[in-house]
Amino acid sequence: MRCGFCLPACPTFRETGLEAESPRGRIALMKATVDDVMEPDVPFEEQMSHCLGCRACEPACPADVKYGRLIEQARDAIELHTKQHRGWVKGVRKLVFQGLFPHPKRMELLGKGLKLYQRSGLRAVVRKTNATKLLPKQLGDMERILPDVAGKGVAKTLGTRIAAKGERVGTVGLFRGCLMDAMFSETNRKTAELLSEAGFDVVIPEAQNCCGALHAHSGETEQAKELAKRNIRAFREAGVDAIVSNAGGCGAILVEYDHLLHEEPEWLEEAQWFANRTKDISSILWNEGRTLPFAKQTGSGAEPVKVTYQDSCHLKNVMKGGAAPRKLLDSLPGVELVEMKDAGSCCGSAGIYNITQPDMANRLLEKKMDDANSTTAHYIVTSNPGCLLQMKLGIERHANDKRMQAVHIVDFLHERIEHSNRPIDKVNR
Ligand code: SF4
Ligand code: SF4
Repeated sequence: MRCGFCLPACPTFRETGLEAESPRGRIALMKATVDDVMEPDVPFEEQMSHCLGCRACEPACPADVKYGRLIEQARDAIELHTKQHRGWVKGVRKLVFQGLFPHPKRMELLGKGLKLYQRSGLRAVVRKTNATKLLPKQLGDMERILPDVAGKGVAKTLGTRIAAKGERVGTVGLFRGCLMDAMFSETNRKTAELLSEAGFDVVIPEAQNCCGALHAHSGETEQAKELAKRNIRAFREAGVDAIVSNAGGCGAILVEYDHLLHEEPEWLEEAQWFANRTKDISSILWNEGRTLPFAKQTGSGAEPVKVTYQDSCHLKNVMKGGAAPRKLLDSLPGVELVEMKDAGSCCGSAGIYNITQPDMANRLLEKKMDDANSTTAHYIVTSNPGCLLQMKLGIERHANDKRMQAVHIVDFLHERIEHSNRPIDKVNR
């Protein structure tokens, strides 16, 4: 149709005003390569790399163009075309995509290594000597905002089966993620505890794996398919009613496993079973769980805690899960939810976009923080680890009030459950 309705939804078009930086422009470039009008050469590759993959263009499109599928095919084609030309890049990709992410034990080792770095005093020395200045700026900044890691995954902390508290509502499988379980395993632990509190038996299948999102978005589709099959098998054998994700980036590919495996008829039914049962943590808590026992606000006249919610693009645009987190936050006693302008617009994190495309990522982050500052919120709440780190970076660089905090919605909700010893009106400011 080429109607252009998608243009105002696209963050890179809004920033540059260039047709080539818009969904319509990128689709035209893809078509030109398919029609042999142009090669999938370096300028084409650069243009495709500028796309955040946020998929804000999809809900805006009246013709229901599946842009996410097109960009993945384009990246696949680029990979095929350039594979023989790559040297060290190929090595790094192989190490990360094949040697690290698909191996939970190696991811656990990574977590243990990070913990050692953080607790042994090495981190303090690195920071004191400004050694992070030797790294590219974006990576040095990331080092400062990494959470303190627990060094062991959720299944090591809680076991692989957690019983529902009170009357049982159902049985769910927790999708723990690879980076999520290495770096945010405390959030995984709290996810399982919230689910148990809401009446679900929680199973954490040991045979599960990385979701394959980074592989699929980077032209490594075959590896993504292999990971999808392992996950389907693991959760099928666990006999769960639903699969719960607490990271929008992972959840979005889990709900599209049926598309990922659509060319393999022997897998289609299993993949549909998996995709149809995958839910985001906020959606299942709000729509299916028993009401959580949130602590009542204590103390008279206590100021409400002001929060604003930054959408995870993939949770909002692919899983259509933007409403439940807001409803949960809005239901909390003593919490005031203030909507941020353009909350659904990408913060610039987008997987590894903030490392590979720092200029555009920083422009988007600065804009996002202008909007966050306008809310005067105490907390920016998110539903994805990448967005969380990006928001922490944004606060460090651009917050008007440095006491502002970024927090995953699971951590925020868990802290407000009644059994918590923390008084609700003691906020960190
Ligand atoms: S992708 Fe959809 S919204 Fe964008 S120009 Fe094409 S038809 Fe219009
Ligand atoms: S995925 Fe996001 S950045 Fe890419 S074209 Fe669509 S709206 Fe623009």
